Amino acid sequence: MSTQVGFIGLGIMGAGMARNLLAKGNDVVVWNRTASRAEALVEAGASPAVSPADVARRCPVVMICVSDTPDVDAVLHGEDGLLAGVSDGSLIVDHSTISPEATVGFSEEVSALGGRWIDAPVSGGSEGAERGTLSIMVGGEEADVERARPYMEAFGTTVTHVGPVGSGQKVKIVNQILVVVNQLAVSEALLFAQAAGLDLAATLDAVGGGAAGSWMLANRGPQMIDRDWRPGFTIDLQQKDLRLALAAADAAGTPIPGTALVFQMYRALQNEGLGGEGNHALVKALEKMSGVEVGG
Ligand code: NAP
Repeated sequence: MSTQVGFIGLGIMGAGMARNLLAKGNDVVVWNRTASRAEALVEAGASPAVSPADVARRCPVVMICVSDTPDVDAVLHGEDGLLAGVSDGSLIVDHSTISPEATVGFSEEVSALGGRWIDAPVSGGSEGAERGTLSIMVGGEEADVERARPYMEAFGTTVTHVGPVGSGQKVKIVNQILVVVNQLAVSEALLFAQAAGLDLAATLDAVGGGAAGSWMLANRGPQMIDRDWRPGFTIDLQQKDLRLALAAADAAGTPIPGTALVFQMYRALQNEGLGGEGNHALVKALEKMSGVEVGG
């Protein structure tokens, strides 16, 4: 398959996803707000665009992966924004994690121009983007999802159509509730193991294959033991997802106390200037309470 596909947003996630599209033989047109961040992709064979509108004019299918709701808004409505290039048959695939409500509004705007929108937030971390093993939760019309599926399968091993437009973002909120409460469990467990004088690596080996095993424990546990706080996913972006989760749960009238607790702990870390660290640095908030440090 060799087809023209656009990719907007070449951050930690987008760069890996676009690279996998290239590796599968697609003709990839890229745009990133900070142009220098697109250079490595262009060297690898992607074609640079001058604006989001340029991407949409050149590509019938355009993928977006930027930070937050206002950033998708800026890509669509900014100077020479995506909407200026959308026409009949355009399909916009939004891989950013953003508000479900705003998603429906963006979809309606694109539809009014003759285009289509699906929301397709991802999970699996920077490792998943790089290896092409992401899980993708997709909201939209069946025909649009099937049209985008071959492209999404270039970087996703699990592509699940979960409902109409906006449903992908809601399922991503479910995903993030699971992620952060598990992150809290991993943090508490490793802190206890440290305080109890256990060998942390042996402890991970012992519990990782049983009922306590998880992606977070397997991927971030060793990083926490090494005190390697480089981000696969930053605290700032994680906090953005929890803000979306708390707002959606509030609208649904559902208490999510564990998630709310983690939100407050991340807020404390942001106040200390740690928002750029990886989300596994959550353990630092507990270290303050206990006077013990994990690993090192
Ligand atoms: P990142 O490394 O911080 O990259 C963010 C990207 O968005 C950059 O390309 C940035 O451009 C672009 N951007 C931000 N604001 C923009 C604006 N106003 N206009 C145009 N472009 C803008 O973030 P990431 O980790 O790749 O995350 C991207 C999305 O994937 C987020 O919604 C995140 O929640 C989601 N996600 C991330 C992970 C993960 O593990 N990292 C996992 C699942 C989902 P510049 O280069 O110019 O700043």
